[in-house]
Amino acid sequence: MKFKKRKNQLNSINRILLRHFILISLLLVVLIELICFLIVSGTTKTTAKEKLIRVGNEVVAFVHDKEDVNTEAITEYINGHRQEGIVVYILSPKGEVYLPSGSPGWNGDIEEIAEKINGSDKGFSPVIYSKDNSLNYAVYLQYKGGSYLVATYSISVFNSALRSLLFYFITVGVIVILLAALVSLNVSQKLTSGLKNLSSTAVRFSKGDFNVEFENAEYQELASLSDTLNSVRDEVKKSGDFQRDLLANVSHDLKTPLTMIKAYASMIREISGNNPEKRDKHLQVIIDEADRLTGLVNDVLNVSKLTSNLDEIKFKVFNLTEYLYGIINKFEYLQETQGYTFMVDIDPNLYTRADEEKIGQVIYNLLGNAVNYTGSDKTVYISLKLNLSDERIKLSIRDTGKGIAKDDLQDIWNRYYRVKENHQRPVKGTGLGLNIVKIILKNHSFDYGVESELDKGSTFWVDFPSVPEKMEEN
Ligand code: ADP
Repeated sequence: MKFKKRKNQLNSINRILLRHFILISLLLVVLIELICFLIVSGTTKTTAKEKLIRVGNEVVAFVHDKEDVNTEAITEYINGHRQEGIVVYILSPKGEVYLPSGSPGWNGDIEEIAEKINGSDKGFSPVIYSKDNSLNYAVYLQYKGGSYLVATYSISVFNSALRSLLFYFITVGVIVILLAALVSLNVSQKLTSGLKNLSSTAVRFSKGDFNVEFENAEYQELASLSDTLNSVRDEVKKSGDFQRDLLANVSHDLKTPLTMIKAYASMIREISGNNPEKRDKHLQVIIDEADRLTGLVNDVLNVSKLTSNLDEIKFKVFNLTEYLYGIINKFEYLQETQGYTFMVDIDPNLYTRADEEKIGQVIYNLLGNAVNYTGSDKTVYISLKLNLSDERIKLSIRDTGKGIAKDDLQDIWNRYYRVKENHQRPVKGTGLGLNIVKIILKNHSFDYGVESELDKGSTFWVDFPSVPEKMEEN
């Protein structure tokens, strides 16, 4: 069973965006700052160590195993490095200061240093170790019969620098997160205000206001949603208009033949009943009007059937030439009774693949229109030709009637459209025929069209694929 979440159980876009923005920026800030901090602290310590070793080694080079040691120069060198935080002592095994001369004394633990040096099997190589926020360098020297060199680099200076760096990082991090929150609020507000606009317009639309305009130019997706909603609105409006027109037209079209049938039936009963000639004439009118009613009802049924069964095209390969002749033959009675002429130019044995019955309807409607609208010569030209270069078959049905004005050419394919001027003509017509033709051919994806010249006539054409007689059906 499906449950619809209640409104207050749903997450708001504002809240989701805010949460995600803050989380992502927090993660990024922490990651970037951690990497920076590690790099900075790493390089600081390495540089400090390198400097300590360099100074220590230099002092060692001055005194170790030297006959003649310039104590003044060494003292000056050692004092020179004091300002940089490096303190150097050369000590006796008891901890007394040999160098730098004039030093007030040393307060370290000489035994610990001796132990560290002896513990490392390095002979005269220096030992480097950290202790109490300082980095130390210690080595045994051949000076005054044996002494120790101790150099100390206090890294508390660096540590405090790193601490202030950490403080800056945290401040920047907080600012970045606050900015991210602000940006997210701004974005989500714009987004949701667009959605809220669309939603309130949709509410108005749902209440029957077809003049609403869905607007949003801020975001591409919302703009395309607005476009879609606007076209839905147009379609709904059109369909409403269509239903109104349909009702008006159908009732109007039903009324006229019914009135005629009733009038002529009364006439037969009261006047022409005993006059065979007049009676036949009046009966013919009744039959014609009944036919017209049948045609109208069939057209209406067809349109609704076609639009509801859009995908139901039953393709099969059939002989289009024979099929066309069969339909023309149905119009033969017009040749005999009303003097119509059908001029045909039809290639033999052309096969196509389509829904035979529906294509029959197309041809029937086009031919019926040509008969209805052709000129006083009562001639209709029908041609079915194969174009060998692209394997297409073109059906053309031409009449010599009034033609169709350019402005009407697009509209004649719409439901219930009838060129106004023609409405007065006493032809059977509902304005549905060409709409049926359009729906069927569109469902087949066949090209079709009309060329027309006023007072010269119109040519309706359909383009069919040509297929071999024994094409495999799949
Ligand atoms: P109808 O039942 O009125 O013929 P259609 O949908 O078949 O309806 O045609 C729509 C309109 O297009 C017609 O009312 C007519 O005005 C115009 N039309 C169709 N075929 C022709 C034609 N061969 N010559 C001139 N006008 C035509």
